[in-house]
Amino acid sequence: MRRKIVVGNWKMNNTITESAALATAIVGELGAGFSGCEVGIAPTFIALQEAGSIIEGSAVQLVAQNCHYENDGAFTGEVSARMVKAAGCSYVIIGHSERRQFFGETNATVNLRVKKALSEGLKVILCVGETLGERESGIMASVVTTQVREGLAGVSDITEIVVAYEPVWAIGTGKTASSAQAEEVHLLIRTTIAELYGQKAASHLRIQYGGSVKPSNAVELFAMPNIDGGLIGGAALNAADFVAIIRAAS
Ligand code: PEP
Repeated sequence: MRRKIVVGNWKMNNTITESAALATAIVGELGAGFSGCEVGIAPTFIALQEAGSIIEGSAVQLVAQNCHYENDGAFTGEVSARMVKAAGCSYVIIGHSERRQFFGETNATVNLRVKKALSEGLKVILCVGETLGERESGIMASVVTTQVREGLAGVSDITEIVVAYEPVWAIGTGKTASSAQAEEVHLLIRTTIAELYGQKAASHLRIQYGGSVKPSNAVELFAMPNIDGGLIGGAALNAADFVAIIRAAS
């Protein structure tokens, strides 16, 4: 039985003070002793420490939105895996479509980041997903399976990996993949993982869905056999909505 995992990706939202307020509200809404599923929040880098101090001792874990593949050096604007680990993160999101779209991330650089994060003791949420154009031109399956294969190249153990399937056309657009559409791709990802790592590893892998998840659609999505939780953008910026989604996964 796979334990569901719900993570809020705050993206480039909230000052340190606002992040502290949101983290406080989430911990409060969730209540003490919550254990229904795994939960994480991913504030901006500069708010990690403050948010981390607020969620300490709660069921909420600290997640970074990205990390670089070098330990340190001349990489202006980047933050290394070592640094986010030291800031208290247990997970890091790698290969989010916004990183691929706006910051030139490729499967190759995603793979470098994945390997570095794992070597630093971080768990990885590897994001994959096709654009609308790719879906409409019939190459969704090859795009997604290539992202999985190349993102994980050289990774021998996927115990600390979560895959997030996030169709780019559903992110921040209000258009959710139907539960059947999402399930089809989740099954495809699990099948690909089985080919690469064997049936047992594939059956343990958690695959989150991301793309306009809201309290109103979370129950149906999370009920699908291969959907093991969600990576939540917009709805994670509201404590009541985020906790309602967490409860839907619990
Ligand atoms: C995301 O960016 O990971 C995401 C799923 O965003 P949204 O929920 O806003 O579509």
